[in-house]
Amino acid sequence: MKLLFIQDTIDSESIGVSYISSVLRSAGHTTDLFIASLEKNLFDKIRTFSPDAILFSVVITKQDYYDKLGNELKKDFPKVKIIAGGPYITLNNSFALREWLDFALIGEAEEAVVELIHALADGGDLRDIKNLVYKEEGRLIINELRNLNEDLDSLPFPDRGLYLKYPSFKNLTVKRFLSGRGCPYACTFCFTRKLRDIYRGKGRYIRKHSAERICEEINLMKRESVLRTVHFSDDLFLTDKKWLNEFYNIYPKKVGIPFQCNLTANVIDEDIIRLLKECGLRGVGIGLESGVEEIRRKVLGKVFSNEEILEVARLLHKYKIEIYTYNMIALPHEKIDDALMTLELNRRMNAKITQCNIAIPFEGLPLTEMAIKSSLLNDFSLTIHMNKRPESPMIRVEFPEKFERLFLLFPFLSRFHVGFSVVKLLLKLPLNFLYRFLHRLTYFINMKEYYDISFLSGLMIFLDIKKGERYLKRFFKK
Ligand code: SF4
Repeated sequence: MKLLFIQDTIDSESIGVSYISSVLRSAGHTTDLFIASLEKNLFDKIRTFSPDAILFSVVITKQDYYDKLGNELKKDFPKVKIIAGGPYITLNNSFALREWLDFALIGEAEEAVVELIHALADGGDLRDIKNLVYKEEGRLIINELRNLNEDLDSLPFPDRGLYLKYPSFKNLTVKRFLSGRGCPYACTFCFTRKLRDIYRGKGRYIRKHSAERICEEINLMKRESVLRTVHFSDDLFLTDKKWLNEFYNIYPKKVGIPFQCNLTANVIDEDIIRLLKECGLRGVGIGLESGVEEIRRKVLGKVFSNEEILEVARLLHKYKIEIYTYNMIALPHEKIDDALMTLELNRRMNAKITQCNIAIPFEGLPLTEMAIKSSLLNDFSLTIHMNKRPESPMIRVEFPEKFERLFLLFPFLSRFHVGFSVVKLLLKLPLNFLYRFLHRLTYFINMKEYYDISFLSGLMIFLDIKKGERYLKRFFKK
């Protein structure tokens, strides 16, 4: 069968989609991916490809997009089956009630998708397909969830060619890999805890590929495209110390390319940093989120002190390892001075690249419930808000305009250490057009450094990102 994935913009490469494509190809099917914002005539291209089914990985912030696109596709291609999957649908099965949607796959779907496509081709019984959700006479049928695949090495290598055909992905010298799946933590703003609950009793949630296998996958990518830095995009790279020793013995010899990964302050000590440095660690992403310990603990569910994080930063600098931080502002009960403490802690850590987000109250998460309980949440559509006013706070805070300005200035101010009296003055001035320019400029510089790319490649990616923003605006206006 011919199967087509559609993604809205180049926001990010979905390794999940690459895995699904790869199992389908191994089962003898043809697959392709179209990134809608980069295709001049998307519907003509779909017509030419003539798929038997179209597949989406639905991200929570993009539900409205897929709703609109799904409806349009169903009108133009009524015979083509539409299949959707992803963590959002796993947690919200009722998404599958959409008229335009034929089937939804929940959980890790590598086996289920192959069974479904075979059933569609040969007329198998849908009731036997675990992880499948579908409608029967207007009623939702939710099949049982299968056990987690504990042997990740049994999966074929993800089909990276899907994305590499687009220069914006091909030219990146930093490429993403997953060395494992799962995270043991329970941050209040993240879906991990809920997914873990759904899978309780269904096998080990935290799993790793063998080091041998991940090295093979990286070497394959090295042969097929430019690769100067490996980015392990696992939620948390260090979940198994025994595995780390295996990695230490193999990675430097078999791959030897510098790498970046995500770690959390409470799993790092000097021995681990030294060992990772010897393996080739170039940079570490840390979810700092807030500079105020109490907010981090009570509101976000993250338990490490400022003293601990500063010590980790000191050690990382000692071993010449770059620090990238993820931060969040406009949290329930947060004051603008708290958010400024987040900026200050980033500066004290001397983080090379900082990313700051406005807190997003996703449905059903503890952070969102906290905001609802305190009457800090307006009724609004997440996707529309994110497309039209992504810079403004979604949770009610005092002086939202200052949070908006801080969001725009955060990457710039953590890079260029302007005094706090000047920062406070800047937050009072309605110069958002200038702050937006500084935000984009710093974003561009950060991206260029993080991905270690030429000015021209950086510019091309930046223009593709802009193309995506324009595409979404046009799409929702139609
Ligand atoms: S550490 Fe990261 S992936 Fe794990 S629960 Fe927290 S935010 Fe989610």
